[in-house]
Amino acid sequence: MIYEFSSKETDFALAFALCLDRQKMKEHILIGPEGAVYNRLSRGGGDVYCDLTRPLGELLIGFPHDAESLWSHNAEILKESYQKIFSRWGYAQPAKDCLQRQYAQNDPVRQYLAIQTWREYLKCYFQDHSADKLAHQTNLLYRPLYSYDERQIWDEPVDRLHSRISLRAESSIQLWYPNRKTRLECALTTYSLQPIILYYLQRLHDWKLHIQECKVCGKFFLAKSRRYALCSPKCRTAQATENKRQFDQRAKDMPFEQAYESAYAYWYNRIKRLRKQNADHPERIAALEEAFSNFKAESVHRKDAVKKDQITSQGFIAWLLEQRNVIDRLIEEL
Ligand SMILES: [Zn+2]
Repeated sequence: MIYEFSSKETDFALAFALCLDRQKMKEHILIGPEGAVYNRLSRGGGDVYCDLTRPLGELLIGFPHDAESLWSHNAEILKESYQKIFSRWGYAQPAKDCLQRQYAQNDPVRQYLAIQTWREYLKCYFQDHSADKLAHQTNLLYRPLYSYDERQIWDEPVDRLHSRISLRAESSIQLWYPNRKTRLECALTTYSLQPIILYYLQRLHDWKLHIQECKVCGKFFLAKSRRYALCSPKCRTAQATENKRQFDQRAKDMPFEQAYESAYAYWYNRIKRLRKQNADHPERIAALEEAFSNFKAESVHRKDAVKKDQITSQGFIAWLLEQRNVIDRLIEEL
């Protein structure tokens, strides 16, 4: 069934229902008149606006933000239209078009918010202080869009989220068990989506499931452990290839790293012996100490240059070998 954004008010309660299936790792979302949603869940009938089954976690991962304040801007237009006695529908038309575009995106959260907004708009019109009432209702409805602007919806620990939400409208939820066969629990709200978010996060927490960011493709995905950092077989293959490439690179670099270490050890052992021999007269080996410092600084510098492909590893190894002659000569001159 398609929702018509008409000027006729409808008096049913609009429900957003969520069934989470831990076994199949699926979420099932229904939007529609409360009675129709119940029928659909219990017997498979019932005319609803949305009946969507998809992988567990998608609702939270894809929960829309409203960075451009599109929703609140629309609500402003709707509020102002109440004052336009003779051109009300014309004035509200751009907001209505926008709601219809959101509805057409086939995203359950956007669909639900679009329908609820329009229904509130029609409902408040016939009440006193209609603009204030609509503002209050849309604020409540849109709050989850703004609360998570700066962070991800699952970033806040469930216990902290519980303590932050105090409004009854944002914390109460209905639980249904409509299907005797599947015995799946269904969570249902008829206004704010905040309790649905809370319920969802609580269930994931209970089931020890986590939303993780894939370190290859950057996508968020549901994982059974915080240690999982890759979302799919494709990304696991990509990571394995990258690991191998890095290993090969290190293996390729081995000879010059080894040459560096052995040249360093060559210098260090000689200097250490001289320090011991000249413990009472360190000034005698001052020139050697200085040459050692220079060698250390220069070799690190050249090693970096090899890594950046600015000089060849062969050139670096040749230079390291020459440096052995430098210290040998200095010791001879001592
Ligand atoms: Zn990935």
